[in-house]
Amino acid sequence: MNLDASHDPAMQSWVDSANQPQTDFPIQNLPFGRFRGPDGTLRAAVAIGDQLLDLKQAAACPGWPAGLEGALEALAAGNMNRFMALGKTARQGLRMALSEGFKAGSQQQAAWSACLLPQQAVQMALPCEIGDYTDFYAGIHHATAVGRLFRPDAPLLPNYKWVPIGYHGRSSSIIVSGQPIRRPLGQTKGSGEVPVVGPSQRLDYELELGFLIGAGNQLGEAIAIDDAEDHLFGVTLFNDWSARDIQAWEYQPLGPFLAKNFASSLSPWVVTMEALAPFRAPPLLRQAGDPQPLPYLDGANDRLQGGLNIQLEAWLQTAAMRAAGQSAVRLSSGNASEAAYWTPAQLVAHHTLGGCNLQPGDLFGSGTLSGPRPDQAGSLMEQSQGGKQPIRLPNGETRSFLADGDELTLKAFCERAGARRIGLGECSAIVLPAKG
Ligand code: CA
Repeated sequence: MNLDASHDPAMQSWVDSANQPQTDFPIQNLPFGRFRGPDGTLRAAVAIGDQLLDLKQAAACPGWPAGLEGALEALAAGNMNRFMALGKTARQGLRMALSEGFKAGSQQQAAWSACLLPQQAVQMALPCEIGDYTDFYAGIHHATAVGRLFRPDAPLLPNYKWVPIGYHGRSSSIIVSGQPIRRPLGQTKGSGEVPVVGPSQRLDYELELGFLIGAGNQLGEAIAIDDAEDHLFGVTLFNDWSARDIQAWEYQPLGPFLAKNFASSLSPWVVTMEALAPFRAPPLLRQAGDPQPLPYLDGANDRLQGGLNIQLEAWLQTAAMRAAGQSAVRLSSGNASEAAYWTPAQLVAHHTLGGCNLQPGDLFGSGTLSGPRPDQAGSLMEQSQGGKQPIRLPNGETRSFLADGDELTLKAFCERAGARRIGLGECSAIVLPAKG
């Protein structure tokens, strides 16, 4: 593990809220995001406790170490993608400077205090411009559970343990947490002879991690598995909303289309790979008889700690709960390290094997990250057994799929002995009724 002074679990910040035990954003985290500034333009920021550091203002403060000019220029301009393109060394250098500057007793306190804003007071935006979005299917328990609904005898298709399955998604409809989504219209085919057009009746969420690409690669040049992590910028929460009934009718032979392209929600803060260093985990243990990864998917470091020890949760608050002042109920709780068959590095190596060029700001969805147990399932499709067994909520309501007015919130955090707890924040949205 590449741990340094920025991971010291005992380190405290002069920002009081960053020292609260349950904050997602202690000084050991320092995730990046963008918010809409008072002039309406997008600005880059770092989260610290319940505050954010406006990097347009902070970049103009004196006291930055030499060598960070390129990173600070990009961030001062609100150009996250240009910062992401600079790669790991620039990101690590900036992380060290931010860690020093936020540390209790730092000389930056006076200047940086004036660059802080309460996170609650600003409107967050997507953390970067997302050029391309690829949705993987790395959650083996999800793939197995969904496959079992269709093929009880052979839930996993024969390719699953050889090739990281994915498809190219739609980036224009990726929205930031907090924006509502609208129930999509689509073609569905019930028991009738002809399909009908109307609102999806089986709207679902998918609990995923989003991996954002930092430095890209040239068209025609594959990224080797041992270099793959150098191209990862960081990790977000990602809800890949799915209209299961639309998907069931349209997905053959080319895969999901309108079932997915109406919206996907992303959390506003990107937790960097450096912040996650204390929370790496071995990849999911292969079962006896499983194939070993092919050589281009097999890296020495990836075998040791290619996985992510991230705790994942989904929470639901219905409109009736909200009206009654009842707080959200947790639908599931699991861990990415028990859910993902393929590591982020393997996704990068596979995506580029044929020469596809990744670009700064590209997004990979992990695929729904369900654990092995039913209470770890990252979608309602699994929790309700394809709609056959509605789940019962504490107030007596039931759900097979999402209803209008439901607010679905994803949360994630990392905890282990000897490290400071960090979190990924939230990815949340309310479901609006379909357009009439
Ligand atoms: Ca998905």
